Amino acid sequence: MSAAQPHVRAILALGSNLGERAGTLQSAVADLVDRPEVRLLNVSPVVTTKPVGGPQGQPDFLNMVIAVDTTLAPLELLAHCQAVELAHHRTREVRWGARTLDVDIISYGSVASDDPVLTLPHPRAAGRAFVLYPWSLMDPQATLDGQSVAELAAAAPDMSGIAHAQDVPQGQES
Ligand code: ATP
Ligand code: CA
Ligand code: CA
Repeated sequence: MSAAQPHVRAILALGSNLGERAGTLQSAVADLVDRPEVRLLNVSPVVTTKPVGGPQGQPDFLNMVIAVDTTLAPLELLAHCQAVELAHHRTREVRWGARTLDVDIISYGSVASDDPVLTLPHPRAAGRAFVLYPWSLMDPQATLDGQSVAELAAAAPDMSGIAHAQDVPQGQES
């Protein structure tokens, strides 16, 4: 039961490339922490990123990460993230396809798991600047599997496609 769970710091990554992206991210953060078992600790800036993988020609993403303190167990936190995705009309038709909202658990304390239902840390995060860069802005000292998140971001292949969201010209915001 969650009441027996210790407090754990988790990193969540949010992405949106359909609809009212910035508004979706903002209200998703509010929804994620709208229960007593999840407390917001830190919020990254929002960055705009080129899609990685998936169908060609999909819109750019807005991405951000948050740090939370939670007493939810890992699978409870995953179910909560998926409920928030659904509340924002997330559908899954194509792998890595466009989506109103994606919420991934990047890390949950120091828990390591290779369960495909919830792999921890997230198995592709260490190579994704769209996760690592906003995380490094939020917490320059952050580490992932013992490596500097800022250094991993700088080395990630998609780093060149990243800009700060406030640098996006008006009118590109859909
Ligand atoms: P990617 O996982 O490469 O970022 P995606 O986010 O588009 O791709 P989804 O369709 O959102 O993939 O999720 C597919 C499944 O991944 C989910 O049903 C979930 O069970 C599983 N999963 C495994 N590890 C994690 C994790 N750390 N965070 C979120 N989902 C995870
Ligand atoms: Ca994802
Ligand atoms: Ca996901």
